Amino acid sequence: MSNETVKIPQATAKRLPLYYRFLKNLHASGKQRVSSAELSEAVKVDSATIRRDFSYFGALGKKGYGYNVNYLLSFFRKTLDQDEVTKVALIGVGNLGTAFLNYNFLKNNNTKIEVAFDVLEDKVGTKIGEVPVFHMDDLEKVIEENNIQVAILTVPASVAQTITDKITQGPVKGILNFTPARLTVPSSIRVHHIDLAVELQSLIYFLKHYPSKM
Ligand code: ATP
Repeated sequence: MSNETVKIPQATAKRLPLYYRFLKNLHASGKQRVSSAELSEAVKVDSATIRRDFSYFGALGKKGYGYNVNYLLSFFRKTLDQDEVTKVALIGVGNLGTAFLNYNFLKNNNTKIEVAFDVLEDKVGTKIGEVPVFHMDDLEKVIEENNIQVAILTVPASVAQTITDKITQGPVKGILNFTPARLTVPSSIRVHHIDLAVELQSLIYFLKHYPSKM
């Protein structure tokens, strides 16, 4: 990551991939400039937030002109390290894990699931979506050899911490945790937690208690 990223607030940094994806589409359709109102409508972030976010990376939109799409794109490409592919491992080739392997992420950005792991003999040695599945016994070795930086956890919650303890010894710097387990990690490792069941429940709660006005 470049030094510029360090100064950007975390909430802003989290929105960068969203902006980046939209700007890539705009660029592909030949657009040279975009207003914060247009961006706001497309990415569903209010325009005051967009203006503040963009001011952090020196993109000051001109009144009546908007933002220069090329400038923003080259900034995002640099900041998000899009020239390099981030190597990802997926651990737990169950229903969710299999779906991720088939999807992979290469279409959207430069991340790629390179290797997968499971304990079941009928899965080990196969390829799913071109990704080879290894046995958990080879976890540390394969992660080290492939210089894997990010791990996606789609295992049962009961084994998530034990696996985390193993992978945080090597090159892995980030974990995308799809299990409901809350993980303890060294301070050098970043964990993002996605609990689909909680997200769904929370959406349903909001629908019931804060119905949108028609
Ligand atoms: P499935 O229907 O294939 O069981 P699931 O997502 O409902 O999918 P889970 O019980 O959540 O099943 O397990 C997810 C995957 O994690 C399974 O493929 C399982 O074999 C694998 N798994 C279980 N324990 C471990 C472990 N210790 N290390 C790695 N993978 C594991």
